[in-house]
Amino acid sequence: MLNLETLKTRYIDLPTMTKYLKSVGSENVISRLIPYLEDDYSRWNDFHKIPRTAHHSDIGVLELMPIGDSKTYSFKYVNGHPGNPKHNFLTVMGIGLLADVSTGFPLFLSELTLTTAIRTAATSVMAAKYLAKPNPKKMALIGNGCQSEFQALGFHHVLGIEEIYCYDVDPSATDKLMNNLKDVKNLKLIKCNSTKEACKGVDIITTVTADKKNAIIITPDMVEPGMHINGVGGDCPGKTELHSEVLHMGDVYVEFEPQSRIEGEIQHMSKDFKVTEIWNIIKTGKPIDRKPDEITIFDSVGFALEDFSILRLMYDIAKDENIGVPQSLVPILENPKNLYGLLR
Ligand code: NAD
Repeated sequence: MLNLETLKTRYIDLPTMTKYLKSVGSENVISRLIPYLEDDYSRWNDFHKIPRTAHHSDIGVLELMPIGDSKTYSFKYVNGHPGNPKHNFLTVMGIGLLADVSTGFPLFLSELTLTTAIRTAATSVMAAKYLAKPNPKKMALIGNGCQSEFQALGFHHVLGIEEIYCYDVDPSATDKLMNNLKDVKNLKLIKCNSTKEACKGVDIITTVTADKKNAIIITPDMVEPGMHINGVGGDCPGKTELHSEVLHMGDVYVEFEPQSRIEGEIQHMSKDFKVTEIWNIIKTGKPIDRKPDEITIFDSVGFALEDFSILRLMYDIAKDENIGVPQSLVPILENPKNLYGLLR
């Protein structure tokens, strides 16, 4: 006899995820996610990888991000519409699914808007852990929208960043960020009047702006020796943040080169412009041997593996802590050839 109760898909909706993250703190989930990301990036060759499929319009993009190994498969549905906040929608919204490769059974369905912000921050922090100078204390945070608090919390709690210099073309976005994080201990947030002001003297520059154009947020004069640049907002054809000269100032690291050539900052560069996929560094288990003046650039676009990692983590948490609701999303039948029997 089948135990139908155990053969259900675990489902975490937005209110359930919100409640969970509030109870444990986003920074703790960012911190728990980093080893999952490191494990998965270290197993790079176990995965079947493709660039995400993108459905573009003049004002945004709708994407599917699939990936799998021999045991588990996942995909995320996500959009990117920089003009959405004007219409009360978020720029980035997502949902995701984890499935069992041996049967195709959907194991776990989850909200992936809050958790995309978490996995993006965790990926940024992981990259900086391996690429940035040791003990960074100051960061510029350019673009103070939905992703920004998660980036700030991740860099503060995991990497020990103590001062964050914030700038957004919309000053109310910076006020929101500073207000949301005003009670975080030992973190100083400084509101700046320009990107240039925010970047002066910092160890790390994080850009997380949204504009459907080839914006030039960071110019060569803002980049100082020894800096690490974490470029997060340029993630679509025709949507970038760094002056192309900046990419020549240091070594450039990407997630999955075929996707980054289409969507990343390097979309402007020739095919022979050298980049390193970050898994090559992660699998060594130790930071690069960087010279004090060396400049490093993480050209992040967001790769399906990062969604695989957060879905894997949240599924483990959901099972261990009994979070979310088991749902009947696909039939489990006594006679698996009798689908019509459901309707009789
Ligand atoms: P959001 O719309 O909530 O915030 C973006 C902010 O950027 C806004 O406050 C806007 O005023 C500001 N901005 C726009 N142009 C600017 C400029 N020239 N200088 C300073 N600030 C500027 O969007 P979000 O959810 O925070 O996402 C930010 C970006 O990150 C988007 O482009 C999104 O596609 C990208 N993103 C990337 C990843 C990844 O993995 N790499 C993941 C999630 C989101």
